[in-house]
Amino acid sequence: MIKIDVDMSKCQHYGQCVFEAPNIFKLNDDDKLEFVATADDSERANVEAAIDVCPMQAIFMVE
Ligand code: SF4
Repeated sequence: MIKIDVDMSKCQHYGQCVFEAPNIFKLNDDDKLEFVATADDSERANVEAAIDVCPMQAIFMVE
C-alpha cells in the first residue's frame, strides 16, 4: 500500500500527473486536481512517474 499526498498550495492543476497515473489523479469538472490518498503497490511506478513530471514538485508518496 502506498500513500499519496499533494501540496495543493503548490499544485497549479496542469494535469501532467493525470497522464502518468490516471487511476490516482484526475481533473474535476472545474479543472481542479483530485486524487486518491491510498493505492495498491501496483500504482507505485505510475505515481513515481507523476512525481517526476510534476512541474511544481507538489506530489509526495509515503511507503
Ligand atoms: S502535475 Fe503537479 S501541478 Fe500538475 S496537476 Fe499534478 S500535482 Fe498539480
